[in-house]
Amino acid sequence: MTAQILDGKALSERIVDELRQQVDALVASGKRAPALAVILVGDDPASAIYVRNKKRACERADVRSVSHDLPASTSQAELLALIDKLNDDPEVDGILVQMPLPPQIEPETVIERIHPDKDVDGFHPYNIGRLAVRMPTLRSCTPMGVMTLLKSVHSDMRGMNALVVGASNHVGRPMGLELLMAGCTVTTANSQTRNLPVLALQADIVVVAVGRPNLVKGEWIKEGATVADVGINRLPDGRICGDVEYAVAAERAAWITPVPGGVGPMTVASLLQNTLQAYEIHQKA
Ligand code: NAP
Repeated sequence: MTAQILDGKALSERIVDELRQQVDALVASGKRAPALAVILVGDDPASAIYVRNKKRACERADVRSVSHDLPASTSQAELLALIDKLNDDPEVDGILVQMPLPPQIEPETVIERIHPDKDVDGFHPYNIGRLAVRMPTLRSCTPMGVMTLLKSVHSDMRGMNALVVGASNHVGRPMGLELLMAGCTVTTANSQTRNLPVLALQADIVVVAVGRPNLVKGEWIKEGATVADVGINRLPDGRICGDVEYAVAAERAAWITPVPGGVGPMTVASLLQNTLQAYEIHQKA
């Protein structure tokens, strides 16, 4: 079997186009456009690229983005004070703090300070908790984007075996909760997992979010499985690759995401969907 491509770039462009139509209709009816505050602390080059992509997507969707570029020396108190101000600003719907943060700032403290109704990354424990009890509001962007991709090829995932490789707070854990809510039988692997090849061979859906090139070998993929590769790794020659041994996996899978062009653009599309949802929450409040 040769896999078909799960084209996140194309699907994300369709989603952003639809969002723009919704935003334009709101503005045409006299309402303000949704607004996203984007906070970047320091000058990490990869973070700068992610932030630029998110701001460009806002432009394409006619969502207003407001940049807050802070120096690497910013203290935690200064960042929290800015978040407090944005929490209280009725013109701001979403607050995004680009990770990673400099070492003097604790990411958990920052995430918890963002009002859950403005937590468009879906990282706040309140929003993860709502997902855990099957009452999601603002969902973690990357797992949400993966689910949109998976649903584009599997209208019903009930009863499927899903393996999530990686158990981070932002990706692996909420990913498992999403798949569970879709009716999958979910296994989540972490760095201590002993029998990963065996688990992978039983999985109808494999989502990998570790950050290690070729961690998941192509021969571990069950014939006809669907593979979503979240990993983003920069190789010594500058190329970007995922966590799955792509060429071999693509010979066995039915569907597979490329890296780049798979999960990454879907994460950005989900961020904009969340921003519009946060806007609607604030309009009703
Ligand atoms: P992270 O916080 O470093 O978490 C990595 C996870 O992988 C941990 O849970 C770790 O287990 C697990 N792990 C490590 N080695 C393993 C192994 N041999 N077998 C199974 N699990 C193993 O990383 P993250 O933030 O989740 O990101 C993961 C990757 O996704 C990175 O490449 C990141 O750049 C990428 N990413 C992409 C997007 C996107 O939009 N495409 C978004 C976010 C992240 P323990 O819990 O035991 O330590």
